[in-house]
Amino acid sequence: MIQKMKGTEDILPKDVARWQFVEDLARDLFDQYLFREIRTPLFESYDLFARSVGNTTDIVSKEMYDFEDKGGRRLALRPEGTAPVVRAYIENKLFGPEHPQPLKLYYIGSMFRYERPQAGRQRQFNQIGVEVFGSDNPATDVEVIALAWQFFQELGLRGIQIHLNSLGEKTARQAYRQALIDYFEPHFDELSEDSKRRLHDNPLRVLDSKDPKDQALLPQAPSILDYLNETSQKHFEEVQSLLQALNIPYQVDDRIVRGLDYYQETIFEFIVENQAIGAQSTVCGGGRYSGLVEDLGGPQKSGFGFGLGMERLLLLLEEEGIDLPGYEPVDVYVICLEQAANRLATQVVQAARGAGLIAERDYLNRSLKSQFKTAAKLDSRLVVTLGEKEVASGQLTFKNQANGQETTLSLEDLLEDFAGVFRRLTMDTSVIDAFFKGE
Ligand code: ATP
Ligand code: MG
Repeated sequence: MIQKMKGTEDILPKDVARWQFVEDLARDLFDQYLFREIRTPLFESYDLFARSVGNTTDIVSKEMYDFEDKGGRRLALRPEGTAPVVRAYIENKLFGPEHPQPLKLYYIGSMFRYERPQAGRQRQFNQIGVEVFGSDNPATDVEVIALAWQFFQELGLRGIQIHLNSLGEKTARQAYRQALIDYFEPHFDELSEDSKRRLHDNPLRVLDSKDPKDQALLPQAPSILDYLNETSQKHFEEVQSLLQALNIPYQVDDRIVRGLDYYQETIFEFIVENQAIGAQSTVCGGGRYSGLVEDLGGPQKSGFGFGLGMERLLLLLEEEGIDLPGYEPVDVYVICLEQAANRLATQVVQAARGAGLIAERDYLNRSLKSQFKTAAKLDSRLVVTLGEKEVASGQLTFKNQANGQETTLSLEDLLEDFAGVFRRLTMDTSVIDAFFKGE
């Protein structure tokens, strides 16, 4: 038997309702904030990621699914969403005056990284992300953070914390890199193997390490915040003051650096303390990137965005006992008792669907009892039973499952206005009764 590849998941129908609920909530928020969806290809040229995410990052050096296609091109399955969106932004000249500026985009889709699979860490995983292009205003940083914050609030996730930091501009980062190297070098032997390797090409990544050996050295390490120039400092202060104006709680955390090379100025992570996702406590991370559009051959435009891991988010919601709505109840269930009623059942179920109702029928000639069971499982609101008698008389009896009330109608009644029939038969009259009784 052929099985799914390691690090991939089948998302089964019983779980898909949860995914759709979260995605729909995100889409509604994006509409409110005027972010528009963009869909980019699942594979891109290898160079796109090497030049943007950075050759020295784990993503490019270790985790990328890259390969040669039959035409000899070097490709990569996208490991993240920002670089493809930036490429599309440049290639389609979305910076032009005919497009809204700043340009606000979002994406929802699969990313691919060759990692060691564990809870909340897969090889194909799904992200929701946003990017804003062409605004240096700290209010843009805060708009994006506020959007993510509102999203988590509406999902009912408590205990989520916003960690905020600034990486400053390039010169500050360069000075800080050197300071980090100077700090870690005397402790070289105490570093983890990964960090020994990273120290000279990407010392910021040492701060990101989850290894206890590295962690022990972190408290005394220099802080990027001491290296910011005046412009960066002012930007960072403005971001904080705007967050305060919106009563969005945050903490400055100079140990977060983000994994990708292109970040500058404000960066942030939404962090949750939760065993289920273990060390993977970051559900959403992002920040400002200032040189990326130019580096990829576009105009001088800054970006600000985030990426949010769907698998981790869903794990977390489950862990926190947050129930997401499942599928909607069925409006009309058609029980079909004999082959003779097959035609009538087909007409009734299709008439219901044509009227915009959610409807299902039996196809398997099961017993009355098991068909009623199915109707109940589907949370059906009206059930109609069809057999030889109904075929002969043309009179159909609908049972309201909530109160047991039965109403007999003809097929003509249904074809004329099934939606009206449904509303009438399922109307909750208890409120009206109570009103007239003066309760
Ligand atoms: P980590 O440090 O946990 O590896 P990261 O810094 O590599 O995370 P990002 O590149 O910032 O993660 O991606 C944004 C979000 O995407 C993460 O916060 C996480 O929720 C999710 N994510 C990243 N890699 C994976 C993966 N392999 N499987 C599932 N979700 C992932
Ligand atoms: Mg990672």
